[in-house]
Amino acid sequence: MVHIKFFEQVNKYFDRAAGYTKFPKGLLDQIKICNTVCHFAFPIQKDDGSIETIHAWRAEHSFHKLPTKGGIRYSMEVNEDEVQALAALMTYKCAVVDVPFGGGKGGVRIDRKKYSQTELERITRRLTFEMVKKNFIGPDIDVPAPDYGTGEQEMAWIVDTYKSIAPSLNSEGCVTGKPVELGGIRGRTEATGRGIFFGIREACEQKDDMKRLGMNVGLDGKTVVVQGFGNVGYHSAKFLEEGGCVITGIAEWDGAIHNPKGINIEALKKHQQEHGTITTFPGATFIKDSKLALELECDILVPAALESQIHEGNAHKIKAKIIGEGANGPTTIEAHDIIKKRETLIIPDNYLNAGGVTVSYFEWLKNLSHVRFGRMDRRFEENSAKQLLLSIQDLTDRKLSEDDIKKLAHGATEQDIVDSGLEDTMITAYNQINDIKNELNIDLRTAAFVSAIRKVAVIYNKMGIFP
Ligand code: NAD
Repeated sequence: MVHIKFFEQVNKYFDRAAGYTKFPKGLLDQIKICNTVCHFAFPIQKDDGSIETIHAWRAEHSFHKLPTKGGIRYSMEVNEDEVQALAALMTYKCAVVDVPFGGGKGGVRIDRKKYSQTELERITRRLTFEMVKKNFIGPDIDVPAPDYGTGEQEMAWIVDTYKSIAPSLNSEGCVTGKPVELGGIRGRTEATGRGIFFGIREACEQKDDMKRLGMNVGLDGKTVVVQGFGNVGYHSAKFLEEGGCVITGIAEWDGAIHNPKGINIEALKKHQQEHGTITTFPGATFIKDSKLALELECDILVPAALESQIHEGNAHKIKAKIIGEGANGPTTIEAHDIIKKRETLIIPDNYLNAGGVTVSYFEWLKNLSHVRFGRMDRRFEENSAKQLLLSIQDLTDRKLSEDDIKKLAHGATEQDIVDSGLEDTMITAYNQINDIKNELNIDLRTAAFVSAIRKVAVIYNKMGIFP
C-alpha cells in the first residue's frame, strides 16, 4: 500500500486555495506551518504487572486564536505527521465556522480493543499528567475533545486528573465532550453527526447544484452509504434517516452490510451493542471486504471512519453523486481531482464535520460562564409567551387548551439552544463557502480553504504581522 503523507495532502489543498488569494508567501507559510508539536513517551503498568511504553503526540497548529482546540484519538495509525495534519484541519475548520480557536490535535498510538478499561484509564490519566507538565492542556491553552477511539469516558478521566493537579476557577474548561455531570453540555455527543446532517441538507437545498447532479431538491428518498458506525457515522446515519434519506449501506472495519430497501439505524445500533458487530444484522447482505461499500450505488456517500479512504486506487469506482466528508481527510487530493471531473459534489471535512467543535465551543463557554444555557431566561420566556397567548385568546375568543399553551409557550432548554446554534452555524458557513465557490468558480473544498485563509490572514493583519 502506498504511504500517504497526510500533512502534505492538507498542505496541497491549502496551496491550491492560496492561489486564489493575494496574500504574500511569507504570511501563507506562517498560516500553513504547524507551530508546535510534542512527542510524549511514558510507561504504564498493564493489568498483568508488565510495563509498556506508550507513545502519544499533541500538535498545536496555530496560535492566532487561543486556546488551541482539537480531539485526541486512540489508534494504531497515530504519528507525528497525522496529528499535525489533523491540527491544521482544525485551524481551517474553526475559521470556516467562526469558532474562535486555533487548531490542535492529539493522539495515542494504541489499539484500544487490546486494553482493559483500567489500562485505558491509566493511559489517559498519565497522558493528562504529561500534558499538564508540558503546558499542553488548559482552558486558556489547549483544549482536547473526543475523536476516533475516544469518547465521554476518556474526557471524564482527563477533566478529573486536570482538576486534581491544576485546579482553578475555570478548570472544567480544560476539555470538552465531557459527561454533563462533569460540566459537559447536552447535545455534544451527537453534535458532529447532527452538523453533518445540517450541512448535507443545506447542500441538497441548492437548486442549481441539484439540477447539475440530476437530483431532486431536498433529502427525501436519497440513498446513503456510511463508512464507520462509531460516533460520527452512527449519528450522521440516524439524522439523515430521520430527515427522509434511505440508509442502504453501512461499513465497519470487519465488513459491511447492504440493503437497497433501507437499514433501520436504531435497530442496527442495538444489534451492534448486543453482538459487538454490525456484520450479522439480519435482512441485509454481508460484504466481506468492507472497503467495497464505498463503491456501492448511492446518492450520498459519508466516509466517517479514517483518513485517505478514497484514493487514486478506488476514486474512479465511486458512484455517489455527493460525498459528505464526515471523517477528517477521507479523500486524497488525487482522488478529489478524479471525482471532481465527474462533477460529483464533495462537501469537505473542514466544513462538514465542524459540528463537534462548534458545540465544544458552546461547552467551553458554559464552563467559563459557570451557568447552563437557558437557566436564566427559560421561565421568563415561557411566562411572557404564555401571557401573550392568553391576551390573544381574550381578544380573539379562540380557546387554547392547557396543552396547546404548554407547547406554544415552551422556553428554550440547553439542548434547544445548542441545536439552534449548531444549525445556524452550519447554514451560515455553508452559504459563505458556497458564495466563494460561485465567486471564484472553484469547488467547495477549495472555497472552504479560501474562506479559512482569508479569516486567519485578517487576524495576522490586525496584529500588525501582515502590513
Ligand atoms: P469512533 O471511534 O467513534 O468511530 C469510528 C468507527 O470507524 C469505529 O466504529 C471503527 O470500528 C470504524 N472503522 C475503523 N476502521 C474502519 C474501516 N476500515 N472501515 C469502516 N469502519 C472502520 O470515531 P469518530 O469519533 O466517529 O470519528 C470518526 C472520524 O470522524 C475521524 O476521522 C474523526 O477524526 C472524525 N471526527 C470526529 C469528531 C467527533 O466529534 N467525534 C469530530 C470531527 C471529526
